[in-house]
Amino acid sequence: MAWLGLDDTDSLDGGCTTEMFVKLLARIGVEFEDPRLVRLWPFAENRTRGNAAVAAHLKISFNEATKLVEEHWNWLCERSEPGSTPGMVLMEEQPDEALYWNAVRMHVESSEMEIPIPHRLWSTGGTGVIGATAAIAWRGNHDHTWENTVYRCEENIGTPRRVDEISIAEMDERFPGTFLNRDPRKSKGLIAPRSPCPVLLGIRGETETDVRAAFEWLKDSGGMEEDAGNMVWRTNQACDDHIDSIITATVETTPVVRTNGHASATTSRGDIVAFSEGGDVNKLLQRLIPGDVISWVGLNHLGSYHLERLRLVQPELRSRQRPKCDCGKRMKSAGKGQSPRCTSCGLQSDVEWVGEKIEASEWVEPAPDRRRHLAAPLTRKIPGFE
Ligand SMILES: [Zn+2]
Repeated sequence: MAWLGLDDTDSLDGGCTTEMFVKLLARIGVEFEDPRLVRLWPFAENRTRGNAAVAAHLKISFNEATKLVEEHWNWLCERSEPGSTPGMVLMEEQPDEALYWNAVRMHVESSEMEIPIPHRLWSTGGTGVIGATAAIAWRGNHDHTWENTVYRCEENIGTPRRVDEISIAEMDERFPGTFLNRDPRKSKGLIAPRSPCPVLLGIRGETETDVRAAFEWLKDSGGMEEDAGNMVWRTNQACDDHIDSIITATVETTPVVRTNGHASATTSRGDIVAFSEGGDVNKLLQRLIPGDVISWVGLNHLGSYHLERLRLVQPELRSRQRPKCDCGKRMKSAGKGQSPRCTSCGLQSDVEWVGEKIEASEWVEPAPDRRRHLAAPLTRKIPGFE
């Protein structure tokens, strides 16, 4: 048996590594199992936005597989998008899962990928082998989801996709085991990408049965254009594997909001930023004041945490000031550890501050089309609860 992994054959202008892999498997023509679509470190350089790699377990010997794959390497390079740096890896067994965890949580160099078991690499010198190796190393035993990726007929690629909004809404109702089908706030389908790639749509869900049945129903309902085949992948999407902990901290500065809507602040655990695309996360950050205790989920990149989910745990009083004295004057601080005191009549107050109390908030997240593929929706996983 042999594991085959592939990464980086696409570009922002077209192509799709998952489609290339499906075609490669068809050309090799051997039985395989456990095809997987694995998303990796979102800030990796020179990567398309989704940063996805793919792999599958081939049911032939390592030596047979080496020969077959070798025969297709030139074909694969010729078909890859200009500017991409394809990487393909073949292994006799799965390597240590640590290779996956590093590649999903941090920046990794190709030279750091140590693979101690029998393997073969095909590379054009780029970073493709990192993703290809990580996709093989992924186990997904702790958590995984499924995606049924459906491909477009060659002649349709580049034209507007025909996937009925009404059919997507009905599919969403009928198959509660699927998720991220549509944005209920905008009544807009999310399953079809908008880039000029060969993917027609992708249906995500909790089980293989869910994503298969939903696609069969959608196809039978006539709610989509003719397709050129599909592949059901096990994936790490919506599992939060890129996050290693929830951080709780006290806000130290008044948030700064730029003209483009991006908001940032300093906390006791570092700087935080939420771009305007962050929706409710951005709105909540803008409302914070020094003294608020917050929790967040996010990635630290270039010195700031990029917030993916945010919660106001313990709000500070809004418009905070010293209490008023019976005589009408505003009391003043009488020094550290002392009760506020009226400078006019000397009266002291038991209450240190008065102001407007606001409620703590639940977790908030960006709109569904603004979340990372890796991010677990709040409907699937509340941070801190497995
Ligand atoms: Zn007074």
